[in-house]
Amino acid sequence: MASQSLIATSSPRAPFDDDDADIVFRSCDNVDFRLYKVIIAKASRVMHDMLTLPSDPSAADDDASPPVVPLTETARTLEHVFRLCCPVEHPTITTLEDVHAVLEAARKYEMPAVTANLRWVIKLILPKEPLRVYGIAYMLEMEDVAREAAKLLLEEPSLHLPTIAPPEFQVIPALAIHTVHVYRQKCVEAALRSVDDLDWVLNGDHERARLAITAGKAMISWCWISDPNYNNHAASCAAEGSIQLKWTYTSHTGGRMQTSYPTRRWFVSHVDAIKSALASRPLGQTVRTHLADGPNCEILSEALSCNRCRPAAYVDLTLFDTLLAGKVDAAVDKWTCRSPGEYLHQRESRNHASLLRQLKNDLLVYMNVICSVTLLRRS
Ligand SMILES: [Zn+2]
Repeated sequence: MASQSLIATSSPRAPFDDDDADIVFRSCDNVDFRLYKVIIAKASRVMHDMLTLPSDPSAADDDASPPVVPLTETARTLEHVFRLCCPVEHPTITTLEDVHAVLEAARKYEMPAVTANLRWVIKLILPKEPLRVYGIAYMLEMEDVAREAAKLLLEEPSLHLPTIAPPEFQVIPALAIHTVHVYRQKCVEAALRSVDDLDWVLNGDHERARLAITAGKAMISWCWISDPNYNNHAASCAAEGSIQLKWTYTSHTGGRMQTSYPTRRWFVSHVDAIKSALASRPLGQTVRTHLADGPNCEILSEALSCNRCRPAAYVDLTLFDTLLAGKVDAAVDKWTCRSPGEYLHQRESRNHASLLRQLKNDLLVYMNVICSVTLLRRS
């Protein structure tokens, strides 16, 4: 990658080395980038305002060399920034350090195109490092990315105590970390509630519920429902679990009736195991992959040890998990992580001093750039 070989020098390098360039940006490590005012003014609102300042009529115009604007970013960062806003080959950015530096520069110089073009880079990195991307997105108020990262973090059981604290933890506010934990807790509670409400098992809109209605009896729908008049389960499967399922149906006289059915103990063990798994990974996918996880073989083997349950246990559990996973996803999807915008509003109202310090810093950078060009025009 070209940017990795950059060393401290004032010699411009391709593709930012055009002889007819009309402005030069110098990095803090003394690398020059020769560009065109019309392009950079289009890409950066700050640069546009700076470059359209009225020229000093008394300034001599016999110096053919373009003005040099010193910037505080490194050459590596500036090359990424300029490649993302000029009609040249886009940069290869693979690290979050580079992403962070480029986004900071894009925000400082108000370069929306750079931020927009960098989104695809962040999206590529997101699945690999959601916690770091969350921190960066939160700081830079990229609400959609922060929310997407927070959702991916639902898959991370050790979110509360990462093995290695990401560098972003040194700068992001505790409120940002608190926010993602609150979101996660809301998702856990929503997922568990969806498992506690099993009314749909006999009364929902799915093939087994319709089968029960057609047959006129709920026992036919799932193998873990006991038939009160015919219980020939194996001794190990005889015990009934604590979950009672209610079936609401229309009697032959047309009245609405409700009957409770006990369930097998292994079914209750299965539901309990799912709840335990959801407490650390509150996602439908946790339910979908549950049967494939090793620790759940014990529950399945208990079901398969019963002659009555064996023929349908695996198929029934798989269908149950698929339907339940959809309900967990729907319950979790109702929650979204609080946006950085909401956080910013809170920060504004609670910490004016900190915000003013940031604004003052941004203003000094802005004035520094303007003064550099104005002085150069006059020289
Ligand atoms: Zn059985």
